[in-house]
Amino acid sequence: MTQMMKAAILHELGKPLKIERVPVPEPGHGDLLIRVTACGVCHSDLHAASGDWTPPPVLPLIPGHEVAGTVAGIGPGVSGFRLGDKVGVPWMYSSCGQCEFCLAGMETVCKSAEATGYTKPGGFAEYLVAPAAFVGWLPQGSDPYSMAPILCAGVTTYRGLKRTQARPGQWVALVGIGGLGHIAIQYARAMGLRVVAVDVSDEKLDLAKSLGAEMVVNAAMTDPVAEIQTKIGGTHAAVVTAVASRAFEQALLMLRPGGTVAYIGLPGGKSDEIRASISAITNWELTVRGSNVGSRQDLNEAIAFAANGLVRATIRTVALEEINAVLDDMRKGRIVGRVVLKLE
Ligand SMILES: [Zn+2]
Ligand SMILES: [Zn+2]
Repeated sequence: MTQMMKAAILHELGKPLKIERVPVPEPGHGDLLIRVTACGVCHSDLHAASGDWTPPPVLPLIPGHEVAGTVAGIGPGVSGFRLGDKVGVPWMYSSCGQCEFCLAGMETVCKSAEATGYTKPGGFAEYLVAPAAFVGWLPQGSDPYSMAPILCAGVTTYRGLKRTQARPGQWVALVGIGGLGHIAIQYARAMGLRVVAVDVSDEKLDLAKSLGAEMVVNAAMTDPVAEIQTKIGGTHAAVVTAVASRAFEQALLMLRPGGTVAYIGLPGGKSDEIRASISAITNWELTVRGSNVGSRQDLNEAIAFAANGLVRATIRTVALEEINAVLDDMRKGRIVGRVVLKLE
């Protein structure tokens, strides 16, 4: 008899997810079957469900790419895993492993990459299947609920910070203090950086202060560019996790000469363009870099920070059945920290 599982499924873009019972997937060659314990809800899940990005997700879709769980089945050809091992599945479901990007450790830009909870079924379900080669090891004593957000919010902000090449003692502006931003603050602090947090919510900025931001700016009340340039002469680096294109434009102007901004957030749709001053970029030798989730090595490093207690997501756990309410809160910018679905 086929074993069944509960899953939240998107059948039509822009419509609510439906809680249904579907067959537990079978692990193929090289795959692990994972019993999901916890799955964080990321803003990308909202973009997926809303159909904000091109190409759209593969429907019907089980979203979710911040998966923490245990190995429940091992496909043929897999070595090094045992049943019951704690593991995590990130957005990066797989890459080809053979193109020039994969060979250079830039699997994040592999053109044949697959995405968990977008092109492949994700973790808003009791089980999922994932290629063992891309599954992350979680410390066996770790808390799966607070570890889940590290699988996307953690690795993504960590790589973004790395890609600014900011050094200990330098200033970084973190623009957007949501699910990603509140974790970015902790990575930045652990990497020895000084943090300016920028958001439009005082509640989120209070959280930023409690996590070690030295300076906070409410961009709804104060011009963050003028504030940062006047008070500290600009930042060496900036990382943008916001979803308003204006924030991306402002972040570039927050830099001091020679600074680098890493773009992580994805506004999508009509907001996918920015205006920037060519002379500012040229004269001040500014760098704009994209940063797309993280490689397996980034993931291992990001998990190690969390395992050593340097980074901890602020979470609220809810049942799978509440997913549509969570997405609605997210749409309205009302979530402080991260919401994590509790699957067991
Ligand atoms: Zn994500
Ligand atoms: Zn590749």
